[in-house]
Order: sequence, then structure tokens, then C-alpha cells
Amino acid sequence: MSQSAGHTPPQAGKLIVISGPSGAGKTTLLKRMYAQCEGPLVASVSATTRRPRPGEVDGTDYHFLRPEEFRRRRETGDFLECFEVYGRGDWYGTLRSEVAPRLAAGKWVVLEIDVQGTLAVLEHYPDALTIFVQPESIEELDRRLTARGTETREAIERRLEVARREMVAADRYRYRVTNDDLDAAVARLCEILSNSDS
Ligand code: 5GP
Repeated sequence: MSQSAGHTPPQAGKLIVISGPSGAGKTTLLKRMYAQCEGPLVASVSATTRRPRPGEVDGTDYHFLRPEEFRRRRETGDFLECFEVYGRGDWYGTLRSEVAPRLAAGKWVVLEIDVQGTLAVLEHYPDALTIFVQPESIEELDRRLTARGTETREAIERRLEVARREMVAADRYRYRVTNDDLDAAVARLCEILSNSDS
């Protein structure tokens, strides 16, 4: 790690960190954010060892890496943060190359990462704008994940357990946006982005 904790590296842009339980409608909300909110928004593409889901594109949705390659890059110090998410052996991480050069160029870089990743990022960028997207309830989340139909019941139960834990951490975020009404949530996000100066 090249930057010391508690010190904000010089930057012209904004670092925006968005978390929220999987299935909270984050993906749809973020698509709308990129399309509608003003500002030079750019998504940081994370690296992961998990397999692509149908329709996911390497380099766009994630940089899909083999575990050996992920480990090698971790040892080289390529990651701003990286963690095993969901405790099933899949690693996810933010590459420094996705963040620092774009901040220096004045972009508003958006990280969509989990809670532990957010806490690690805040050690390096304490002024990062942190936003937690929450569903109305765990029951609503269960309904959405089940309707999506991409995972087994067991995998969904695991995600719900992570969601319960993550929602407890929501108060560590500067802003919380409840995704019960999509239009209202998008408007709120745009307002947060344009009113913040970090
Ligand atoms: P999914 O497998 O559904 O795409 O993502 C699973 C979880 O991994 C999400 O909660 C997402 O926020 C988290 N995640 C994605 N990329 C990163 C990353 O670079 N770092 C961390 N810490 N979490 C990530």
C-alpha cells in the first residue's frame, strides 16, 4: 500500500463508493445513475476470480482473473483493496490502475464494492463519498433474488445472511439511499453527487 492511512492523496476528481446487499436493485439504479446524473462519472471495473454469469463481459462487468493471476497481482500490490466475498472462495478487488489515474484526470470514479472493501478504501481516501443502497427489507431482498433466478436457494440464503450483516454496517456510510422507488432513488443519488465536494 503506497499511501499512508488518514491522508488523502492529491486528487482532482471524486471517489464515490457504493455498497448494498446484492439484489437491492443496485445494478439497475447504477445504470440509471450513469445515464442521468451530471458529472464525469466513470465506473471502476473490479477484478474477480468468480466465473462470469451469462451475458457478463470481461473487462466491462469485471476483469475475470484466474485465482493464480489474482494472487500474483495481489502480491505485486496492484489492488487498492481486495477481499474474499461471501466466504465461498471467490475474491474481488479494486485495481489501483482503475482509480488513481482517473481521479488525477478529474473523473468521478465509482466503486461498487462490499462493506469490508469500503472500510479499507476509507483508510486511503477518507474523504470518499460513501453511499449505501438498501432494500426496503430483507423479505423484499429475498423476493428479488428469488425472482432473478440466477442462483440456488442455498446461494440466496448465503447472500441474505451477508445482507443482514451488511445492513448493520449501513451507518458507517455518509449517505443511505433506500431503493423502494427507482425514480426517487436515482434523483436522490444525483443530488448527493452534485452537492458533495469530495
Ligand atoms: P457479484 O458476484 O454479485 O457481482 O458481486 C458480489 C459482491 O462483490 C457485491 O456485493 C459487490 O459489491 C462486491 N464486490 C464487487 N467488486 C468488488 C471489489 O472490487 N471489492 C470488494 N471488496 N467487493 C467487491
